[in-house]
Amino acid sequence: MGEKSRILFERAKNLIPGGVNSPVRAGKAVGIDPPFIDRAEGCFLWDVEGNRYIDYVCSWGPMILGHTPSVVVEALMAQVVRGTSYGAPTGLEVDMAQMITDMVPGIETVRMVNSGTEATMSAIRLARGFTGREKIIKFEGCYHGHADSLLVAAGSGVATLGIPGSPGVPADLARHTVTLSFNRMDEVSQAFEEFGPEIAAVIVEPIPGNMGVIIPDETFLKGLRDITLKNGSLLIFDEVISGFRVGPGGAQERYGIMPDITCLGKIIGGGLPVGAYGGRREIMANMAPEGNIYQAGTLSGNPLAMAAGMATLKALQDGNIYQDLEEKGDYLFSGLKKAAGGAGVEVTINRIGSMGSVFFTSEVVTDFATAKKSNGDMFRGFYGKMLEQGIYLAPSPFEAWFLSAAHGEESLQKTIECAAKAFDTL
Ligand SMILES: *Cc1c(COP(=O)(O)O)cnc(C)c1O
Repeated sequence: MGEKSRILFERAKNLIPGGVNSPVRAGKAVGIDPPFIDRAEGCFLWDVEGNRYIDYVCSWGPMILGHTPSVVVEALMAQVVRGTSYGAPTGLEVDMAQMITDMVPGIETVRMVNSGTEATMSAIRLARGFTGREKIIKFEGCYHGHADSLLVAAGSGVATLGIPGSPGVPADLARHTVTLSFNRMDEVSQAFEEFGPEIAAVIVEPIPGNMGVIIPDETFLKGLRDITLKNGSLLIFDEVISGFRVGPGGAQERYGIMPDITCLGKIIGGGLPVGAYGGRREIMANMAPEGNIYQAGTLSGNPLAMAAGMATLKALQDGNIYQDLEEKGDYLFSGLKKAAGGAGVEVTINRIGSMGSVFFTSEVVTDFATAKKSNGDMFRGFYGKMLEQGIYLAPSPFEAWFLSAAHGEESLQKTIECAAKAFDTL
């Protein structure tokens, strides 16, 4: 890390807990102090020293068009002079709701919020209010933001830092959360046998991206749909990552399985802080002011955020963007696989479209238990060598690599070459 980043990190640590506003950014898991970023364009980031990186974090998913795409920049410029927040209804929100309901098959009506965490937290409240039940089922290694009920055996930074739950979450609340293994329908059936009439909802990342990318067994997702229907519980798809990432209608469209409630975030904001939850009309109608389950937000539906989000979604509706992302994903990850093989390093690569993960294990990775078999020391070694060569990856073995429409062939090829060198040193 350069001198300027080092000085900034020192100052940051004195002013911000751990020096960061979101834990994984600190790079603890890889033992590297983070470069401080100055600007971004296309698939590149520049740090404060002027070093350029090819970016596979993409702000943890949102930047599917790459950084500073002209359609988003123009939409923001046009809106910013018209006002940045009114706290009143706007046509932008109606257009955004129209676009989401058109694109995501399971959503009939939708409420905008300011983060993925707010979306999942609100969805859980809605499910509990609607069913009059308290228990929820989640899956180990799935991350649904940091709301109390969902911060149990979670993925992302919680997994990275090895935090089993979080101090500050009341045990009284955590006991309503039942945690099971992803892809294991037998565990789900058993939980329903035990607690069926108490279960408000099953919440799941239909394509997990927070324990590294996991490929869902389609019979598992179908099984969740069937068993929740049979027991009067709701099925919540947390598509904060997979929404608009694996196709215009997310995982639900890809697999043809309709959840009752869908949570969205990341891409939907086009790089601004946005989340949304939506679903079947009769369920959503229970939210205030139509119903009496409360949820609100001073900045919800913020005009700048709506402008950036809509410009992004509009770009995703046009043309062959998902086909292009699929081809780029295939090129990059098959190249990485070959590079690892050439260096005699055993890896398992899970990929869906433009998101994927490299696990340093020869085992098939289908859930958190198998993801954790990935060799942490090898990941750290790999990470350091990649960063040195200007390849910016998420500083955790339990995160996805994200591609954007702006990743060009030359950058992908360079990444594979750098990876070959990095694998060789392991
Ligand atoms: C990122 C993420 C969240 C939380 O979103 P924030 O905007 O960080 O609050 C929730 N669920 C999933 C699947 C995520 O990847």
